[in-house]
Amino acid sequence: MSFLFAPREARTTLKCPVCGELLDIRRTCHEAYMQCSSCRRRFELAPFISRMDQAMEEFLERLYVDRV
Ligand SMILES: [Zn+2]
Repeated sequence: MSFLFAPREARTTLKCPVCGELLDIRRTCHEAYMQCSSCRRRFELAPFISRMDQAMEEFLERLYVDRV
């Protein structure tokens, strides 16, 4: 039950394209996405991958570990 130890969301340093507040990276059981901490809009992960910060990287690493 390793998923219990992996966070379901993490605060990133990336900014919301709409309002400029910080984005969280979040996941459900089968997908990850970005969500604004302020306006709550959801965004696809893909456009943010090239600007991935450490929080995102660690989050996604744990996501992969969970799936093994
Ligand atoms: Zn926003």
